[in-house]
This record gives sequence, C-alpha cells and structure tokens, in this order.
Amino acid sequence: MARPIVAIVGRPNVGKSTLFNRILGWKKAIVDPQSGLTRDRLYGVAEWSGREFTVVDTAGLDLDTANDASRAAIEAQTRVAIEQAQVIVLLLDVRQGLTPIDRDIAQLLRKSRRNVIVAANKADSPRERHFAHEVLELGFDEPFLISAQHGLGVGDMLDRVVEALPPLEMKSPAEEKADRLAIMGRPNVGKSSVLNALLGDERALVSEVPGTTRDPVDTELVFDGIPVVLIDTAGIRRKSSHRDRLERYSLLRGIHAMERADVVLLVIEASAGVLAQDQHVAGYALEAGKGLVIVVNKIDLVEPKMRQSAYWRTALLKDFKFAPFAPVVAVSAKTKEGIGSVILTALEVVGHRRTRMAPNELNRVLRGAFQEHPAPSFKGRRLKLNYATQAAGETPTVVLFVNDTGLLHFSYRRYLEKKIRERFGLAGNPLRLVLRAGEDRRTAK
Ligand code: GDP
Repeated sequence: MARPIVAIVGRPNVGKSTLFNRILGWKKAIVDPQSGLTRDRLYGVAEWSGREFTVVDTAGLDLDTANDASRAAIEAQTRVAIEQAQVIVLLLDVRQGLTPIDRDIAQLLRKSRRNVIVAANKADSPRERHFAHEVLELGFDEPFLISAQHGLGVGDMLDRVVEALPPLEMKSPAEEKADRLAIMGRPNVGKSSVLNALLGDERALVSEVPGTTRDPVDTELVFDGIPVVLIDTAGIRRKSSHRDRLERYSLLRGIHAMERADVVLLVIEASAGVLAQDQHVAGYALEAGKGLVIVVNKIDLVEPKMRQSAYWRTALLKDFKFAPFAPVVAVSAKTKEGIGSVILTALEVVGHRRTRMAPNELNRVLRGAFQEHPAPSFKGRRLKLNYATQAAGETPTVVLFVNDTGLLHFSYRRYLEKKIRERFGLAGNPLRLVLRAGEDRRTAK
C-alpha cells in the first residue's frame, strides 16, 4: 500500500531538518546506524494518530548543493515537492518575517492543487502572534506557530497534516494481482535502457491495453505467465525532452514510485562505483518495507571477471552492509547480458515476502537462538522471550513478546534477525522485529 507523502519546503535555515527529525522522533531508521546512513536522512516513515505517512525534507535532496540558497534551487525543490507529495508543509521563520523567497515559494504552491499547511517556526514565545497576520496575506489558512526545536505546536500541526492526507488507497483486485517493481537509481546509470531491455525480453508480453493500473507511466506486462507492473520513476520515460534541473532530484522523484512498489530495482553502474545516493535509495526502500534487488548495469564496459553477478555480490557487500540479503544481478542493457534474470530475481523476492512462518517453527528457532547465545545483561537484567509470532502485512514482520522491550541491544537484534533469516530465507526483504512487553499472544492487540 502506498503511503501518502508529506514534503517540507521552505528556504534555507528556517528549520526544515529540525522539524523533519522532530516528526520522525523516536522512529529509528531500519538501517544500521554504523553504516552512516542515518546521519543525513531525507526520507522517513512517520506515524501520527494511527496514520502512517512518508516525510521528506526537500532541502537535503540536493546533496551536492544542500547549501544552495539560489532561487532556482529552491524553486526546483518546491516543484519536486508539488509533483510528488500529497501534503506540503511550508515552513517559515517568525524571527525573520516574510522574505521575497518565501513569497516566491508560496506563489508556486498556490498554483499547485496540493494541500498546503503553513507553519511558522522558531515561535518560542507567544508574542509572535502578529506574524500570523502577516502570513495570512499569502492566501493559505492560518499558520501554525511552532518550535521545531522544542516541539511546541508540532502536535497540533500534525493533527492538521493527518486530516489533510488523502484517504487510504485501496488497490483494485486487478492491481492486487500484479507484482509491482520500481526501477530507481541516479541519472544516467541506464534506468530507461534497462526498462526497455526488460520490455524487449521474449518472455515479457507487454499489454497494449491499459487495464489494471491507475498511473499512466506504469507498464504492465506478463512475464512467464505472471502479471507484473514496472513502475516508472518520474522522468525515466519522458526524460529526453526534459533533461533539466529536476534530474538532480531523482531521489525524491522516485519516492512516490517506490511507495507503490513491492520491490525496488536499484540500478547502479558497474564502472562508477557506489555513491551515497545509491545507499540512500537502498536504505529508504528497506525502511519503507520494500524488497530490494541491486542491478549492476553496463557490464559490457568492464573486464570479463566483473561481468559475473557473483563478483558483484562480494564486491558490494561493503557498500550495502545493511542489506547483505539483497540479491545482485549484473546486466548490460546494451548487450542484454543478464537481463533475463532481473524480473525472475525480483519475482523471487516478491515470493519471499509472502513467506508464512509457522508459529511452532518460529518459536523453536528463536528459543534455540536465545539458548545458544543468551541476550547480554544490561544493569543486571536480560532480555527474555516469552513468545513470538508473525504479524500480518506486506513486509515480513515478527512480533516478540518479551519481559522488557528496553533490553534489546542493536547487535542482539541483528543476531536474532540472522537466525530467523537462516531458517526462513526472506531473501531481498527487510525483516522487522517488533517488541512488545507481554506474556504471550493473548496479550497481543
Ligand atoms: P537513465 O538516466 O538512468 O535512464 O539512463 P539512460 O538509460 O538514459 O542511459 C544513460 C546512458 O548510458 C545512455 O547514453 C545509454 O545509452 C547508456 N547505457 C545504458 N545502459 C548501458 C549499458 O548496458 N552499456 C553501455 N555501454 N551503455 C549503456
């Protein structure tokens, strides 16, 4: 199910990333903190009043020019937010009042048909009220006065954000049947070439009649009898006419596509190495609960030993150490080498998402793990497992009922995950471990 996207826009230094972090709050990234990925996150899954949504900090999108305060950069970020998000939070700074750039951004937002919520940040004292009047002239509803740093007013603002979210999107039965793959990656790694190569595969029957999907950029096909939808990252298809500034924002421009997918095909380039943005996309895909396949493209340009998937499986372990379970496929969109196994591999990953872990077996595996290596003690106490069960949902999730949810150390979580994966596979998929305090499943909600 696609989560709605909430984007935070505004000029530099109004406090966008502080607000972003405040909204994500206690929610930790699923990826290993040691991998360094959590430091400059731009994307996260948040929850408020029982609704899940994706929050994006637009400023950080442009990793190379994060400090680029030029109008063009800010305008481009705002346009991307308008294109991708269902709700936009326009952040202002009460201390500085309305600036010309704020007005420019507001004008772009007014023209869009998006839900815009205005928040005036750094309102640490009530005398900032007068600012609310000044802001009204922008033509939006009354602003929320907040302090992202101290958390003031943020709850009220989030109530409004949740109200503005579109209703939960139910998939139609036809959509439900198809496995959905999103092709993502930096510009020029060969995403459209890979897409075209996949469509050209003799086992892929591309449907001429649009039927099951509501998005015109999706491509439906039947692969070995299995219905598949290839979800286009914004701009892959119509890019040639459009190599503009927005290209640089390929990460955010793919987030909506990613949210709608079962599996993300992350395309990287054999000779270019792995960049931070590649790691981020992989991390976000896993945080969103999606399956992940790494597609190494352009192997025709590298020496023969580097044309094997097995070579890349080892070579990429260091860069994707938070995702050692992700399958790696080496391909050339140009010569078509390896292309035949991309969709097959992705469908296997989808299959693993549907793994049902029998409760007896799951508990046997976990009890064994706790016996083999008891949890380390923390202030004289140890994590003890009462019962484990698999939760329903699209992402493989195991709920552990334990004596005290505060006693799970990161490395022990890793260890338990590894034991579950050894028994149940789950290749290509994130595994969520959710802790609950309680005796057994009767206490589960
Ligand atoms: P996108 O921006 O990720 O969609 O990348 P494109 O598909 O437009 O490809 C970028 C460039 O890489 C183009 O010049 C392609 O012809 C080239 N390219 C794509 N795939 C391959 C490949 O497998 N081998 C080689 N040698 N070039 C490729």
